[in-house]
Amino acid sequence: MPALPRSAWYDLTRDMNWDLSYVDEEQAFPRDVSNAYGVSARQWWTWDEPYKITYREYAHNQAGKDAAVYAVNQVAARSAVYERLDPGWRAAVLAHYGVTPLTEYLGAIAEGRMARFGRAAAWRNMATLGTLDEIRHAQIQAYFAHSLLSKEPRADWAHRTLHTQHWGAIAARVAFDDTFGGNDAVSTAIQLTFALETGFSNLQFLGMAAQALEVGDLEFASLISSIQTDEARHAQQGEPTIKILLQAGRKDEVQQLVDVAFWRVWRIFALLTGMSMDYYTPLEHRDQSFKEFMNEWIIKQFSDQFRDLGLELPWYWNKHFLPELDWFHHAVQIGVWYLRASMWWDPHAGVTVPERAWLEEKYPGWGRTFGPMWDQLAECLREGREIPTSLPTLCHACNLALATPAGHRAGLLDSPEPLTMEHAGRRYFFCSPPCRWIFSLRPERYAGHVTLTERFAAGDIQPPTLEGALAYMGLKPGEYGDDSTGYAWALGRKEP
Ligand code: MN
Ligand code: MN
Repeated sequence: MPALPRSAWYDLTRDMNWDLSYVDEEQAFPRDVSNAYGVSARQWWTWDEPYKITYREYAHNQAGKDAAVYAVNQVAARSAVYERLDPGWRAAVLAHYGVTPLTEYLGAIAEGRMARFGRAAAWRNMATLGTLDEIRHAQIQAYFAHSLLSKEPRADWAHRTLHTQHWGAIAARVAFDDTFGGNDAVSTAIQLTFALETGFSNLQFLGMAAQALEVGDLEFASLISSIQTDEARHAQQGEPTIKILLQAGRKDEVQQLVDVAFWRVWRIFALLTGMSMDYYTPLEHRDQSFKEFMNEWIIKQFSDQFRDLGLELPWYWNKHFLPELDWFHHAVQIGVWYLRASMWWDPHAGVTVPERAWLEEKYPGWGRTFGPMWDQLAECLREGREIPTSLPTLCHACNLALATPAGHRAGLLDSPEPLTMEHAGRRYFFCSPPCRWIFSLRPERYAGHVTLTERFAAGDIQPPTLEGALAYMGLKPGEYGDDSTGYAWALGRKEP
């Protein structure tokens, strides 16, 4: 046991910085993997993390967390808890497992890059622990999904999704590769640990753990809260990085990195969390709408942090971001239900009479805007008419379908500029001004991408049928998604 208190040796063991003499700066920290933004090596050495932990404490804490969460998994795997969950919540859990484990693994690669190319020894120390965190998150979530396989074969999408050409996988990969998979270490600290983790995922995991407890899914609650405690620690790499860059007068660069990442993550977050909170979570267990959650956690807390650090709100905040809270995830929900065959879970409509009343209360005008669309779908289902399917045009930045506010909101947000761009002889389409702006910052980075709809139109997807498209996206016959309640909400039957 060390005889000295931690404070007596912590700085000495973590702050091993030295002047390079055998190689120059660019050789040790190539710009492509570690953009110093013109800040000198010695200035970077002032990097200081707010929350300190030693490796010894880390290993002790993590072993305890793993023991606790695997014990819950053991019990849950032998119980019928999963079968008894509400079909909406099961959809939320399967959607989560499909996206998260490999994203965490991508996070481990990003942390590993910071562990080598972070600009200060103290930072590399934190990122080493962050790498171990993200490996744990990838493994533990893949393991939990694996233990569901006997009850739900599609839980194997935990391993599959991000390797496929599924539309959701492409949208997720584009956002995550841009902000951390294919990013330099310094920009990653801002885009991954500050914008994504401090801004969204840390808070989202807090909220999801509470909601899982509420629904009675103890296993998922313990899994998510175990992960969240790690996120809260390694997410702190963003702040000291931002402080050094701001002191060096690099505010414009920092602001742009934050603005790009915030929008990209918002798109994915609205898709998954918006749907889960406002439609998939059983009505009696909802204590907050997605918009209320966004207002309390993201809009208030995260924007206070922007100001405390000396940053501005992103330029699109009032004009494009805030208005989307009223309609974007509702549009996504209809889109996902409509394309339900392409999902690895059974989409939950969540529009029974009491649910519609709740939506109208939380989003005044929902009934006039989105209600008629669901009425149309229900009518088709009741009369046995076919619901026409078509391929949506996809945004060249976020890769989600182009959607615009409907009903009472139509026309409110029209952009004076067309949402297209010509680049090197090709025409690109965008869902929103911020997506167009992101593309315009580095068109050479994004221009080569061909969207799924374009691949279909070019004949790359064969046979050019729904089945052909589903096979291309990685879905095997027999695992196509279907309405989670067997259309009870539309046919007026009691939900199972
Ligand atoms: Mn993680
Ligand atoms: Mn993380």
